[in-house]
Amino acid sequence: MLDPTFQRALLEALDRYPTPFYAYDWGRVRAQLARLREAFPFARFFYALKANPRLGLLRRLRALGLGAEAVSLGEVLRAYRSGFGPDQVVWNGPVKTPEALTTLKGREPLVVLDSEGDVGRVARYLPGARVLLRVNPDLPVNTHGHLATGRGESQFGVLPEAVPGLVRTIREKGLTFLGLHLHLGSALSRVEDFLEGYGVLDALYPQVGPVAVLNLGGGFGLDLPLEALQEPLKSLARLYGAQVWLEPGRYLVAEAGVLVSRVVGLKETRRRYVLLDAGMTSLIRPALYGARHPILPLYPREGREEGIFDLAGPACEAGDILAREVRLPVPQEGEALAILEAGAYGASMSLTYLDTPRPLELLWTGAGWEVLRTREPWERLLEGEEA
Ligand SMILES: *Cc1c(COP(=O)(O)O)cnc(C)c1O
Repeated sequence: MLDPTFQRALLEALDRYPTPFYAYDWGRVRAQLARLREAFPFARFFYALKANPRLGLLRRLRALGLGAEAVSLGEVLRAYRSGFGPDQVVWNGPVKTPEALTTLKGREPLVVLDSEGDVGRVARYLPGARVLLRVNPDLPVNTHGHLATGRGESQFGVLPEAVPGLVRTIREKGLTFLGLHLHLGSALSRVEDFLEGYGVLDALYPQVGPVAVLNLGGGFGLDLPLEALQEPLKSLARLYGAQVWLEPGRYLVAEAGVLVSRVVGLKETRRRYVLLDAGMTSLIRPALYGARHPILPLYPREGREEGIFDLAGPACEAGDILAREVRLPVPQEGEALAILEAGAYGASMSLTYLDTPRPLELLWTGAGWEVLRTREPWERLLEGEEA
């Protein structure tokens, strides 16, 4: 669960800051990084910005020696803004617009090519760029369909049979070919999924030959036994004579973050509800993926009756439920609770739907609270419009 010091600090933050807010425990991020480095001491890590792109977080991760992984022009520029250099940023994604390619000319990151068209476009706009080629391993991948990027029907990467030919094309077009890329999906908890993915690259070796880099992406689920991947990764890297790159996002920050929300009231229809000041606009994962987040009451439990509640947000959507059938000591108006494991794809996916400002984000450094991002002022939501 939460570190006790962090949990006490949350109570103090409740006195100082408006809810809802996100709060992250930096010590927990560092501990997760230590676990990754222990499991894969031979790998170079690129933090996937989309899990949580706050500059204050990126600056700290960079200081710990990580690179950055970006999937849009905005994310590449954000990585640069926080001090990463072009050779520390990997740029992924099936869509690289002419605007993005033009903007990055002369300061292009390491580009992951995602299709034959991508090869042509990148060669035209960014001649000589250092590139990898993303393989679509065409595997079933066990996770939510929205998160399974390694399935053959997904829009990501190049099917294995097309890889050797495209590697030749990449070299003929004068691009600097670094190696292959594979990312299976997010929140994967089965070792077998990764092993099958590595198997696809293994089978491609005779046609591709040695490469400098194998980038095996991210997707490490919180309960994935990392050690089980150590030897398979090592032997794949040995086969190719390659350095291993990894792109963890969720694994580093998910458990470090909570969304703190206050109870506005209780109500009953055919079910019992706790009404919260946070909902799907602040944390969309439950509505989008059916994600389940543990709930921690931040109020006294002693002597309270318990009940089973659904936690509902303010949107006029029956799907605006942050958690279902949670057993809780019955809360009172104004008391707060923490929605756990919200550090990844929480704030970064928050919306301004219903003219809701995006929440404040705080970092607990161990010594005190640091504001990573102020609460969005409501006036900013009107920018660019006229009455
Ligand atoms: C999203 C993404 C990641 C990070 O995934 P996590 O599940 O957060 O670890 C890594 N690589 C690529 C290409 C991605 O799209």
